[in-house]
Amino acid sequence: MIIDLEKRWPQQPGEPTVISVGFMPGAPRHLQELVIEAAKEWEKCNIRFEWGPPEKSDIRIAITIAFNKSEESSWTVVGTEAKRLSSDTPTMELTWANNENAFRHSILHEFGHVLGAEHEHCSPYFPYHWNRAVIESAFERQLGSREKAIDMLRRNMKRRIPPNQPNVLISRFDEKSIMMYVLHKEWLRWHNDFKKEPRHFLENHDLSALDIRTMKEAYPRQLSFTSSPKVSLAVLGTLLIIIGIKYKA
Ligand SMILES: [Zn+2]
Repeated sequence: MIIDLEKRWPQQPGEPTVISVGFMPGAPRHLQELVIEAAKEWEKCNIRFEWGPPEKSDIRIAITIAFNKSEESSWTVVGTEAKRLSSDTPTMELTWANNENAFRHSILHEFGHVLGAEHEHCSPYFPYHWNRAVIESAFERQLGSREKAIDMLRRNMKRRIPPNQPNVLISRFDEKSIMMYVLHKEWLRWHNDFKKEPRHFLENHDLSALDIRTMKEAYPRQLSFTSSPKVSLAVLGTLLIIIGIKYKA
């Protein structure tokens, strides 16, 4: 997982990070329910989504219906960049293509971007080079135009983040990450630094253990130094664990 820490949402000590989310008019009710249920998965990472009217929300979701595969085009703005958009426009679009698994993947993936995550294949530890000619024609077929294919590749595939990029949290490469694309082995070429045979990568439908661990690192549970005895005891317990003393409250 790769998380751009500069696009992280602000945190209050002792509280989960709260992000408000609303649906644009016309989003079908039963699909809204699927979105709310799936997005909850990210709440394992000290995040809380507050669902309300779109015009008052940080994240505004439009849901569209796709009638064929080429119309599938879910997208979102990464992290706090959503704040730059005017409050009457969506910051995320999710496409329903009559497949609950694929929809779940899109929801978890786009909400990963909302929290600041980038695509897993942009990792400095992604163990392949791209097979440019093959991938360009595959995208041209899927998107229906060469320009769109080249633009998609430039925006979404080619970038490789350097390992020492400041303010970016990078785990090891994780093929189980929800931020991983479906990749065909023909799209990939051998990379001498990693020495791994190209292979297929399938669609993931859940957050990986490393997704959750890395996101928790980006949104840590911050301690609140209040006068409440219960909190103080918890703080004391944590400090004692940090210095290596086993302590039971
Ligand atoms: Zn994406």
